[in-house]
Amino acid sequence: MRKLPGVFNDQQNTDALQFGSYINRIFELGYECKTVEELFAIAKEIKPKYEFATSGPKGYGKKKIENCINNFFTFNAALSETLAVEGNFKVEAETFTLNGIIDRIIIGEEGGFLVIDYKTSKSMKSPAELYSDPQMLMYTFAIHHMYDIPYTKITMAHWYPVQNKLVTVRIPERVVEQYVHRKLKNEVWTIRKLKTDEFKPKVNKFCNWCDMIGICPAYHTQTEINEEFKCKAGKIEEAKIARKAYYAEKDKKPT
Ligand code: SF4
Repeated sequence: MRKLPGVFNDQQNTDALQFGSYINRIFELGYECKTVEELFAIAKEIKPKYEFATSGPKGYGKKKIENCINNFFTFNAALSETLAVEGNFKVEAETFTLNGIIDRIIIGEEGGFLVIDYKTSKSMKSPAELYSDPQMLMYTFAIHHMYDIPYTKITMAHWYPVQNKLVTVRIPERVVEQYVHRKLKNEVWTIRKLKTDEFKPKVNKFCNWCDMIGICPAYHTQTEINEEFKCKAGKIEEAKIARKAYYAEKDKKPT
Protein backbone atom coordinates (compact mmCIF):
# COMPACT_ATOMS: atom_id res chain seq x y z
CA MET A 1 0.00 0.00 0.00
CA ARG A 2 3.02 2.28 0.40
CA LYS A 3 3.23 2.08 -3.38
CA LEU A 4 -0.23 3.56 -3.84
CA PRO A 5 -0.15 6.96 -2.14
CA GLY A 6 -3.41 8.80 -2.64
CA VAL A 7 -5.24 5.61 -3.59
CA PHE A 8 -5.18 3.76 -0.29
CA ASN A 9 -6.26 5.60 2.83
CA ASP A 10 -6.90 3.44 5.88
CA GLN A 11 -8.70 6.33 7.60
CA GLN A 12 -11.25 6.70 4.82
CA ASN A 13 -14.94 6.43 5.74
CA THR A 14 -16.49 3.16 4.51
CA ASP A 15 -20.13 4.36 4.24
CA ALA A 16 -20.03 4.70 0.46
CA LEU A 17 -18.56 1.21 0.07
CA GLN A 18 -21.06 -0.30 2.50
CA PHE A 19 -23.95 1.41 0.73
CA GLY A 20 -22.64 0.29 -2.69
CA SER A 21 -22.26 -3.30 -1.50
CA TYR A 22 -25.74 -3.25 -0.01
CA ILE A 23 -27.39 -1.97 -3.19
CA ASN A 24 -25.37 -4.37 -5.39
CA ARG A 25 -26.39 -7.31 -3.21
CA ILE A 26 -30.10 -6.38 -3.52
CA PHE A 27 -29.71 -6.31 -7.31
CA GLU A 28 -27.81 -9.59 -7.29
CA LEU A 29 -30.39 -11.42 -5.19
CA GLY A 30 -33.40 -9.72 -6.74
CA TYR A 31 -32.78 -9.72 -10.47
CA GLU A 32 -35.56 -12.29 -10.98
CA CYS A 33 -38.09 -10.51 -8.75
CA LYS A 34 -41.43 -9.97 -10.44
CA THR A 35 -42.62 -7.19 -8.12
CA VAL A 36 -40.94 -4.23 -6.49
CA GLU A 37 -42.27 -5.44 -3.13
CA GLU A 38 -40.08 -8.56 -3.43
CA LEU A 39 -37.06 -6.31 -3.89
CA PHE A 40 -37.98 -4.28 -0.83
CA ALA A 41 -38.33 -7.51 1.17
CA ILE A 42 -34.78 -8.53 0.18
CA ALA A 43 -33.53 -5.05 1.07
CA LYS A 44 -35.09 -5.30 4.52
CA GLU A 45 -33.76 -8.80 5.17
CA ILE A 46 -30.12 -8.08 4.33
CA LYS A 47 -29.92 -4.52 5.71
CA PRO A 48 -28.52 -5.58 9.16
CA LYS A 49 -25.38 -6.87 7.44
CA TYR A 50 -24.41 -3.40 6.22
CA GLU A 51 -23.37 -0.37 8.24
CA PHE A 52 -23.64 3.14 6.86
CA ALA A 53 -24.97 6.49 8.01
CA THR A 54 -28.64 6.91 7.17
CA SER A 55 -28.91 10.57 8.19
CA GLY A 56 -26.87 13.75 7.84
CA PRO A 57 -25.69 15.48 4.66
CA LYS A 58 -23.62 12.49 3.58
CA GLY A 59 -26.06 9.84 4.82
CA TYR A 60 -27.72 7.16 2.73
CA GLY A 61 -31.28 7.47 3.93
CA LYS A 62 -34.49 5.55 3.25
CA LYS A 63 -35.40 7.79 0.31
CA LYS A 64 -32.13 7.13 -1.47
CA ILE A 65 -32.47 3.37 -0.98
CA GLU A 66 -36.07 3.37 -2.18
CA ASN A 67 -35.10 5.45 -5.19
CA CYS A 68 -32.38 2.93 -6.15
CA ILE A 69 -34.74 -0.02 -5.77
CA ASN A 70 -37.56 1.59 -7.75
CA ASN A 71 -35.14 2.58 -10.50
CA PHE A 72 -33.71 -0.93 -10.58
CA PHE A 73 -37.16 -2.48 -10.88
CA THR A 74 -37.96 -0.43 -14.00
CA PHE A 75 -34.50 -0.85 -15.50
CA ASN A 76 -34.39 -4.59 -14.82
CA ALA A 77 -37.85 -5.21 -16.31
CA ALA A 78 -36.66 -3.83 -19.64
CA LEU A 79 -33.59 -6.08 -19.89
CA SER A 80 -33.53 -9.25 -21.98
CA GLU A 81 -32.13 -12.60 -20.86
CA THR A 82 -29.50 -12.70 -18.11
CA LEU A 83 -26.48 -14.90 -18.81
CA ALA A 84 -24.56 -14.25 -15.58
CA VAL A 85 -24.90 -12.41 -12.27
CA GLU A 86 -21.83 -11.65 -10.15
CA GLY A 87 -19.81 -13.86 -12.47
CA ASN A 88 -16.20 -14.59 -11.55
CA PHE A 89 -13.69 -14.55 -14.34
CA LYS A 90 -10.14 -15.75 -14.67
CA VAL A 91 -8.52 -15.20 -18.04
CA GLU A 92 -4.93 -15.75 -19.09
CA ALA A 93 -3.22 -12.83 -20.80
CA GLU A 94 0.33 -13.71 -21.93
CA THR A 95 2.30 -14.04 -18.71
CA PHE A 96 -0.34 -12.97 -16.23
CA THR A 97 -3.93 -13.73 -15.23
CA LEU A 98 -6.89 -11.38 -15.04
CA ASN A 99 -9.38 -12.03 -12.24
CA GLY A 100 -12.55 -10.19 -11.37
CA ILE A 101 -16.29 -10.22 -10.83
CA ILE A 102 -18.78 -8.91 -13.38
CA ASP A 103 -22.10 -7.66 -11.99
CA ARG A 104 -24.35 -8.71 -14.85
CA ILE A 105 -24.22 -10.00 -18.42
CA ILE A 106 -27.30 -9.67 -20.62
CA ILE A 107 -27.77 -11.41 -23.95
CA GLY A 108 -29.37 -9.05 -26.46
CA GLU A 109 -31.87 -9.92 -29.19
CA GLU A 110 -29.13 -9.97 -31.83
CA GLY A 111 -26.88 -12.22 -29.76
CA GLY A 112 -24.64 -9.43 -28.49
CA PHE A 113 -23.68 -8.99 -24.83
CA LEU A 114 -24.51 -6.03 -22.61
CA VAL A 115 -22.08 -6.11 -19.68
CA ILE A 116 -23.30 -4.03 -16.76
CA ASP A 117 -21.39 -2.70 -13.78
CA TYR A 118 -23.63 -1.10 -11.14
CA LYS A 119 -22.26 2.17 -9.75
CA THR A 120 -23.73 3.96 -6.75
CA SER A 121 -21.31 6.89 -6.96
CA LYS A 122 -22.64 10.43 -7.22
CA SER A 123 -20.59 11.34 -10.27
CA MET A 124 -21.17 9.53 -13.54
CA LYS A 125 -18.57 8.73 -16.15
CA SER A 126 -19.02 9.73 -19.79
CA PRO A 127 -18.77 7.21 -22.67
CA ALA A 128 -15.36 8.74 -23.48
CA GLU A 129 -14.17 8.02 -19.95
CA LEU A 130 -15.45 4.43 -20.11
CA TYR A 131 -13.50 3.99 -23.36
CA SER A 132 -10.24 4.30 -21.45
CA ASP A 133 -11.40 2.95 -18.10
CA PRO A 134 -9.06 0.11 -16.97
CA GLN A 135 -11.91 -1.91 -15.47
CA MET A 136 -13.98 -1.68 -18.66
CA LEU A 137 -10.97 -2.59 -20.80
CA MET A 138 -10.14 -5.64 -18.66
CA TYR A 139 -13.75 -6.79 -18.53
CA THR A 140 -14.08 -6.46 -22.32
CA PHE A 141 -10.93 -8.54 -22.79
CA ALA A 142 -12.21 -11.16 -20.32
CA ILE A 143 -15.69 -11.40 -21.89
CA HIS A 144 -14.22 -11.75 -25.39
CA HIS A 145 -11.91 -14.58 -24.35
CA MET A 146 -14.24 -16.37 -21.92
CA TYR A 147 -17.25 -16.52 -24.20
CA ASP A 148 -15.52 -16.45 -27.57
CA ILE A 149 -17.63 -13.50 -28.66
CA PRO A 150 -16.40 -10.83 -31.12
CA TYR A 151 -15.47 -7.43 -29.67
CA THR A 152 -18.02 -5.83 -32.00
CA LYS A 153 -20.79 -7.69 -30.14
CA ILE A 154 -19.80 -6.51 -26.65
CA THR A 155 -21.35 -3.38 -25.16
CA MET A 156 -19.91 -2.30 -21.83
CA ALA A 157 -22.01 -0.23 -19.44
CA HIS A 158 -22.17 1.54 -16.13
CA TRP A 159 -25.64 1.71 -14.69
CA TYR A 160 -26.18 4.36 -12.02
CA PRO A 161 -29.17 3.45 -9.81
CA VAL A 162 -29.17 6.79 -7.95
CA GLN A 163 -29.50 8.73 -11.20
CA ASN A 164 -31.20 5.90 -13.18
CA LYS A 165 -28.75 6.38 -16.07
CA LEU A 166 -27.10 3.83 -18.31
CA VAL A 167 -23.82 4.88 -19.91
CA THR A 168 -22.61 2.53 -22.63
CA VAL A 169 -19.56 2.13 -24.80
CA ARG A 170 -18.21 -0.29 -27.39
CA ILE A 171 -14.45 -0.59 -27.23
CA PRO A 172 -12.66 -1.75 -30.40
CA GLU A 173 -10.41 -4.80 -30.37
CA ARG A 174 -7.31 -2.68 -31.11
CA VAL A 175 -7.84 -0.50 -28.02
CA VAL A 176 -8.51 -3.44 -25.69
CA GLU A 177 -5.64 -5.60 -26.92
CA GLN A 178 -3.18 -2.68 -26.80
CA TYR A 179 -4.20 -1.90 -23.25
CA VAL A 180 -3.82 -5.48 -22.01
CA HIS A 181 -0.70 -6.43 -23.96
CA ARG A 182 1.17 -3.14 -23.49
CA LYS A 183 0.02 -0.90 -20.63
CA LEU A 184 -1.27 -3.57 -18.27
CA LYS A 185 1.58 -5.94 -19.07
CA ASN A 186 4.09 -3.18 -18.19
CA GLU A 187 2.27 -2.47 -14.93
CA VAL A 188 2.30 -6.17 -14.02
CA TRP A 189 6.04 -6.31 -14.68
CA THR A 190 6.64 -3.21 -12.58
CA ILE A 191 4.86 -4.87 -9.66
CA ARG A 192 6.68 -8.16 -10.21
CA LYS A 193 10.02 -6.37 -10.06
CA LEU A 194 9.29 -5.19 -6.54
CA LYS A 195 10.85 -7.27 -3.83
CA THR A 196 8.38 -9.71 -2.32
CA ASP A 197 8.54 -8.08 1.11
CA GLU A 198 7.67 -4.71 -0.45
CA PHE A 199 4.33 -5.98 -1.68
CA LYS A 200 3.03 -8.21 1.07
CA PRO A 201 -0.77 -8.10 1.41
CA LYS A 202 -1.74 -6.08 4.45
CA VAL A 203 -5.09 -6.87 6.08
CA ASN A 204 -7.14 -3.69 6.35
CA LYS A 205 -10.74 -2.53 6.68
CA PHE A 206 -11.25 -2.50 2.90
CA CYS A 207 -10.52 -6.22 2.48
CA ASN A 208 -14.26 -6.98 2.28
CA TRP A 209 -14.42 -5.02 -0.98
CA CYS A 210 -11.26 -6.46 -2.47
CA ASP A 211 -11.76 -8.66 -5.55
CA MET A 212 -8.67 -10.62 -4.53
CA ILE A 213 -9.86 -11.74 -1.11
CA GLY A 214 -10.66 -15.25 -2.38
CA ILE A 215 -7.03 -15.73 -3.41
CA CYS A 216 -5.27 -13.45 -0.94
CA PRO A 217 -2.33 -15.06 0.92
CA ALA A 218 -3.24 -12.97 3.99
CA TYR A 219 -6.44 -15.01 4.30
CA HIS A 220 -5.73 -18.36 2.62
CA THR A 221 -3.10 -21.06 2.41
CA GLN A 222 -1.54 -21.83 -0.96
CA THR A 223 -3.64 -25.04 -1.14
CA GLU A 224 -6.86 -23.07 -0.64
CA ILE A 225 -5.79 -20.56 -3.27
CA ASN A 226 -5.10 -23.35 -5.77
CA GLU A 227 -8.55 -24.86 -5.03
CA GLU A 228 -10.23 -21.48 -5.54
CA PHE A 229 -8.57 -21.14 -8.95
CA LYS A 230 -9.78 -24.62 -9.92
CA CYS A 231 -13.31 -23.74 -8.78
CA LYS A 232 -13.33 -20.49 -10.78
CA ALA A 233 -12.07 -22.29 -13.87
CA GLY A 234 -14.92 -24.78 -13.43
CA LYS A 235 -17.51 -22.01 -13.23
CA ILE A 236 -16.20 -20.44 -16.43
CA GLU A 237 -16.44 -23.80 -18.17
CA GLU A 238 -20.05 -24.11 -16.96
CA ALA A 239 -20.82 -20.62 -18.30
CA LYS A 240 -19.32 -21.52 -21.70
CA ILE A 241 -21.46 -24.67 -21.90
CA ALA A 242 -24.57 -22.70 -20.87
CA ARG A 243 -23.91 -20.14 -23.56
CA LYS A 244 -23.43 -22.81 -26.25
CA ALA A 245 -26.67 -24.48 -25.17
CA TYR A 246 -28.45 -21.12 -25.32
CA TYR A 247 -27.44 -20.49 -28.92
CA ALA A 248 -28.07 -24.08 -29.96
CA GLU A 249 -31.63 -23.72 -28.69
CA LYS A 250 -32.22 -20.28 -30.15
CA ASP A 251 -30.21 -21.06 -33.29
CA LYS A 252 -28.67 -17.58 -33.35
CA LYS A 253 -24.97 -17.99 -32.70
CA PRO A 254 -23.30 -14.57 -33.09
CA THR A 255 -21.01 -14.08 -36.04
S1 SF4 B 1 -7.87 -8.99 0.68
FE1 SF4 B 1 -5.62 -9.17 0.65
S2 SF4 B 1 -5.00 -8.11 -1.25
FE2 SF4 B 1 -7.10 -7.48 -0.79
S3 SF4 B 1 -6.90 -5.58 0.41
FE3 SF4 B 1 -7.03 -7.28 1.90
S4 SF4 B 1 -4.92 -7.86 2.30
FE4 SF4 B 1 -4.87 -6.58 0.44
